[in-house]
Amino acid sequence: MSFIDARDPSSPGQIETDVCIAGGGAAGITLASELLSSGVNVCLVESGGFTPDEETQSLYDLDSIGYPVRENFMSRARYFGGSCNLWAGRNMTLNALDFASRAWVPGSGWPIPHTEVSRFYPRAYEILELPGPERTTPEALRARMSVDERKLFDEGTFTPTVSLWPRSATRFGSAFGSMLRKAPNARVLLNASVTHVALNEAGTAVTSVAASTLDGRRTTIRARHFVLACGGLENARLLLASRDRQPQGIGNSHDMLGRHFMDHPRAVFGKIHLPPGRELPLLRGRPLPDGKLQVGVGLAPAVQERERLLNHYVTFELQTSGYAEAKYQSFIQTMKVVLRRGYAGSRWDFARSHLTDIPELVYLLSPKELMPHPVSRAFVALRDAIPRRPTPKTYVAVYFCEQPPDPASRVTLSDETDRLGMNKLKLHWHIDESVRQGVFRMQELLRSELERTGVGRLETAREEPVFTDASHHIGTTRMGLTPKEGVVDTDCRAHGVDNLYLASSSVFPCAGHANPTMTILALVLRLGDHLRSMRFT
Ligand SMILES: Cc1cc2nc3c(=O)[nH]c(=O)nc-3n(C[C@H](O)[C@H](O)[C@H](O)COP(=O)(O)OP(=O)(O)OC[C@H]3O[C@@H](n4cnc5c(N)ncnc54)[C@H](O)[C@@H]3O)c2cc1C
Repeated sequence: MSFIDARDPSSPGQIETDVCIAGGGAAGITLASELLSSGVNVCLVESGGFTPDEETQSLYDLDSIGYPVRENFMSRARYFGGSCNLWAGRNMTLNALDFASRAWVPGSGWPIPHTEVSRFYPRAYEILELPGPERTTPEALRARMSVDERKLFDEGTFTPTVSLWPRSATRFGSAFGSMLRKAPNARVLLNASVTHVALNEAGTAVTSVAASTLDGRRTTIRARHFVLACGGLENARLLLASRDRQPQGIGNSHDMLGRHFMDHPRAVFGKIHLPPGRELPLLRGRPLPDGKLQVGVGLAPAVQERERLLNHYVTFELQTSGYAEAKYQSFIQTMKVVLRRGYAGSRWDFARSHLTDIPELVYLLSPKELMPHPVSRAFVALRDAIPRRPTPKTYVAVYFCEQPPDPASRVTLSDETDRLGMNKLKLHWHIDESVRQGVFRMQELLRSELERTGVGRLETAREEPVFTDASHHIGTTRMGLTPKEGVVDTDCRAHGVDNLYLASSSVFPCAGHANPTMTILALVLRLGDHLRSMRFT
């Protein structure tokens, strides 16, 4: 019986295994699957059950004291499958510049080369069932671009960024559930929250982790290796909260733990008006036989260097009439309720949303992702086939910003505790001035390029960008060559603790331009290889 409900009186109080993984989200489940297929015994400890519930979710409540972040339910999901139960399934890879140490971006640069991670992307494509990488080579993209899109990219100021979706967004809980159920070497402990990581007396190795159900039933898990895969915020919280041997928290000898919190600040910030006959099909997004593709407008590396800019990009979303959007809004709400068991849908306060929220809402609720793939493909094919009189179009410009790693943007422990007695997190999200300035400069460049090429006109929406986070929790346990530079080493192992690893965007030392999940998977696959190379006999 590989799935065990920790609330069940017959569930064991002690478990011994080879590898204990805390957290059953994309990272934890993928790592478990990699290790199980090599015969390693794995215990996956997951805080939630198969469906969301308020009480478990409330263990994620935090005190946000900096730039506001999305509310708990939009930001993370605490049940089997993790936040990918809510995600939009938009996948991007980090590029070489994201890994590079850039003189104009303080704290930039990974301690491992880009190829160390990118070699695992092809396997991540397979796991996520994405359209193959051959569809997004520069040549393949160029072949699909309209004349207007080529004009925009040909001058060398901009470079295309690529987002891919599978036919339907991967839900890791259901995608891997039956494999985990059948694996003789797997134990998945549900409804058990890890509350403490216990170290040996010297503080050099983990001896066990303690997990608890909501009503206080405890399990101790002993293993040879431990992996924390509880997400970008919770990994830091667990290390900060486990203070009995190392009073500043595990891996925190140089006060790096919890610092450098990054997300991808987004701003709906302007409209692009296209005259009749102008077409931007790839920028708007196209279904492919095996998924979907959307190109964004990124800054060419030479321009970033010359102008000392961050790796920002813009996507264009079609703006429709207010009436259609209002109808669309209720359609999306219904779809959310149906597809996500009412979890997110029932929490969105539609009554209080305004018309100006609609572009944000449309982005957040991701109609492109909610529309079943065959329907959207048939719709686009039909739309393309019907000859229509050219009409003007308006797109909403959505800026996706890279944040530089900033030690002042951080999480710490609050004095308040949750119902398991763990200190809650205090999140101080700080958005650096360079991000805001970068958006303004990007706007100027876009405006002048659209006008010069005659492709369109940029209308700026507001004086100041209003950012929202993208639920990408990055950097709190960053990778560094030494404990002075980071919390984990280049193997994702906590500095100074032999058998403790972290699997999450918490280890990214820089956020880069791309959504994080593909890179989380690539790092997890790399960690899987590392752990498999250990002897388990
Ligand atoms: C609305 C939304 C949209 C998103 N869209 C995208 C997107 O389009 N593209 C993209 O790349 N990313 C997106 N993301 C981010 C993406 O969901 C995360 O990158 C991804 O889920 C991270 O996976 P993870 O396994 O590292 O962490 P999580 O998914 O957070 O999983 C952590 C798991 O650990 C469990 N857990 C937590 N604490 C404990 C504990 N103490 N003990 C035991 N278990 C614990 C949780 O219940 C959870 O199952 C989105 C996120 C949200 C919320």
